[in-house]
Parts: sequence; C-alpha cells; structure tokens
Amino acid sequence: MTHEHEELEAQPKGSLSRDGSRKFVHPADVKGRFTSRRNWIFAVLIVILVAIPFIRMGGHPVLFLDVEHRQFFLFGRTFNAQDFWLSFFILSGIGFALIVVTTAWGRVWCGYSCPQTVFLEGIYRRIERAIEGPRERRIRRNARRWNIDKLWRKTLKHLLFVGVSLFLSHVFLSYFVSLPALEQMVARSPAEHPEAFGWVMVMSTLLYLDFAWFREQLCLIVCPYGRLQSVLTDDDSLVIGYDPDRGEPRGKAKDPNAGDCVDCQRCVTVCPTGIDIRNGLQIECIGCAACVDACDDIMLKLKRKPGLIRYDSLEGLEHRPKRFWRPRLGVYAVLGLVGLVAATLAFRSHTNFEANLLRPRGAPFAITEGDVRNTFDLHLVNKYPEAVTYRLEGIEGDALTYVFPVPEVTLGSLVGRHIPVMVSIPESELQPRLRAHVRVVPVGHEQDTIIIDDPFVGPLR
Ligand code: SF4
Ligand code: SF4
Repeated sequence: MTHEHEELEAQPKGSLSRDGSRKFVHPADVKGRFTSRRNWIFAVLIVILVAIPFIRMGGHPVLFLDVEHRQFFLFGRTFNAQDFWLSFFILSGIGFALIVVTTAWGRVWCGYSCPQTVFLEGIYRRIERAIEGPRERRIRRNARRWNIDKLWRKTLKHLLFVGVSLFLSHVFLSYFVSLPALEQMVARSPAEHPEAFGWVMVMSTLLYLDFAWFREQLCLIVCPYGRLQSVLTDDDSLVIGYDPDRGEPRGKAKDPNAGDCVDCQRCVTVCPTGIDIRNGLQIECIGCAACVDACDDIMLKLKRKPGLIRYDSLEGLEHRPKRFWRPRLGVYAVLGLVGLVAATLAFRSHTNFEANLLRPRGAPFAITEGDVRNTFDLHLVNKYPEAVTYRLEGIEGDALTYVFPVPEVTLGSLVGRHIPVMVSIPESELQPRLRAHVRVVPVGHEQDTIIIDDPFVGPLR
C-alpha cells in the first residue's frame, strides 16, 4: 500500500472532515462512455440556454418573461397576467414527470441535466483543470506557500470565474429583459438602470461563490430535490452501486483469494462529492457515473469484466430478480400522465385573443319605436405577439339586427378595448331564450375566428 493510499484510507470520505469542517473536494479527471455522454449533453444544454434569447418565434424569443410589460412569451404564444393559472398545470406536470423519472432512473436529472452540474462540470471545472492542472497537482499546489506560480494561476482562474459568472447572469437577465434593452443597459451607466444592475451583481456573486467555492455543498445541503431521493426511490430504482459479492474481499490483483476490487481508490478520487460508493448507496451520490467509468477503466486494464460499479437497482446489485414496473411507479406514472395531459390541455386551451360579451350597468334593454334593444360591451384583448385588426360581425337570424359603431378595431399586442355592440329586434318578434351572436374575426388569422354569444333580454310577455 503506498503512502498516498494509506492517507486516503485513513481520511473520512465525503466533503466533511472529522471535526465537521468543510473538506474541499478535488475530483480527479476521468474518461469513459458515461463521461463523454455527459460532456456532450452539457455542451448541448449550455448552447441551448445561451441561444434561447436569440431564437425567435412569432416575433419574440421562444421563452421570454417580459417583466416590465407583464407578458410571457412561450413558443410563439403570448400570455398575460390573466393566464397565470396555466403555470399551475405546467409546473405540476413537470413536477410529476420528475417524480416518475426519479423513481424509475434515480438521480439521472442531477447527474446529467441539473444546471448546477451542467455549469460546474461543463464550464468551471474545465477552467480550473486547464489553469491548475490535474487533481494531484492542484492539491500539492494548494498545500504549498504562496509563490508566483500559485498567485498567477489562482488569479487567472478566479478572474475567469468572475467573467463567466457575469456572462451567465447577463444571459439569465436576457430571459426577462429584451436583447436590445440589455444591449443598451450594458452600454450605459449602471445609474440609469439600478435594479437590473443590482440583479446582475447579486446573481453574478451568487454564481461565483457557488461554482468557485460552495460546489457540491449546494447538492448536499441546499437542494430540496436531493433530500427527496430516499422517499422517491426504492430497491428497484436505477442507481449507481458497487457489487460487493464480486468486489469483496478487497485485495491485490494477484491475490487469488481477493475479490475483483483492488482497492485502488479511483472510484473515490473521481467522485465530485468525495464519497466511497463501496459503502453503499448514499444521499450524497448525485448519479454522475464518474466512478463507473473510473472502475471500468481499472477492470479493463486488469482484463476483468467491467461493471463492478454500475447502473443497477439495489435488487440487481444483490443479484435478486429485478423489475421495472411496480405499484409505486405505476401510481406515479398515472399521476404523471394526468399532470402531462392537464398541462397540454391547459396550454392548448390558451387562445390568441380574448373576446367576451359583457352587459354594461343599467337597464338591460330599451324599447324605442317598437324595437327592443340590448346594448353589449364587447371586451377584446389581443394576445398575438403583433398588432392585429379584428372584424366584428353579427350573426343574423331570429330577426335580430346588429349595429357596430366600431366594426373593425386594430389592437397592439396585449392591448384590450371595450367596444359597444347594439342588438335589436321588433317587439312583435321577441321570443323566449333568444341569444345574440357576434363573430370576431382576427384579420390574417381567420382560422382563429370565434363566435361569442349572450342572452338577449326583453320585456316579459
Ligand atoms: S475503482 Fe473499482 S477497483 Fe478501484 S477501489 Fe473502486 S471499486 Fe475497487
Ligand atoms: S458515488 Fe459515483 S455516481 Fe455517485 S457522485 Fe460519486 S462518482 Fe458520482
């Protein structure tokens, strides 16, 4: 056993020292099939995140929460404050979907797509490795006194961390402020836009502190989703685990009585949360699969079968029969499906404009020269992302006559207007249960035409 090996063995695993103080984790570099898949996913997700404010649909970014004008744009549709109820269905649909995914595939979200993992592994740790070198060199340099080499590397790394944090916080801001407005803000003095400037400074500081220092502690201490793992997963959920039947007793590669684990500690040194997965499934495991790649590499070098650490269920690791479908997953899947259908229906029920026939206060009808007249108040709100002209038409029938003082109206995006509509009928033609019908035609979007109606009232006969 080497000296370094003995030291590793003697230290408590994880990110806490024996006295409870923080032990900074320096994960070693690793290569392998899961690491390369993760790297591709991180790159794609980062590109998507940065590109979203630039991708336009219907004249607006595909995802844009215009705080100033209280508008929300999603895939070419425009939402206003009245559509806020939709967020309940969309968020609960996403929540149920995440529960199903966690129960079936464990912490796949944490390991592959959580922004904390994506930015830490996809950007910040890459910068750190490029400037400070691999794990062992970083640990040695950190233990040394300050010198020129340490000073310039640390300074450059932290300057780049600050630069990336500033860039990312500007990208986040562009989800809430239009790009032209953001460009103007960047070009002008912060005194002209103190709220946005303050927001960017706070966000940049939090990002910097998180990715430069706090790192895995966010998953371990702050993230509520991580705490839910033990509730959502069961013995059939897919986790990353060590096969003790195959690995134990640990020993040298040449020892005929030893299991497959040669106790090289590679699985521990690559772990971003610093744990030893051989001690069993732990809440600190974020499912990154770095230990799988590390151990597979060792096994292949020793000409042994990979998979000593692998994706498997706890049942599978105990060599008991595995099952994917079980009652708990079935219930979650049904709930997830209901949530997804409700979210889809709620989203589809969203219309590009609102039109309602209201009754103004006062007498419900008037009689003049033998005609009964009802006056309605048509409330129209344009929710298209651009200005649209609306044509109003009465649907003749039942001897009703329609008068539109404003037969056509052009409204800007998310602009509403009240328009009077007069409907009349000769008193002799009055029938019970009459209804007034108005066709609202958005010019250029005729496929969205709707007909609204309301009861026509007159004197009791
Ligand atoms: S990497 Fe594999 S062989 Fe090495 S200590 Fe971990 S489990 Fe054992
Ligand atoms: S135990 Fe393995 S899968 Fe879990 S966090 Fe550590 S390296 Fe990643």
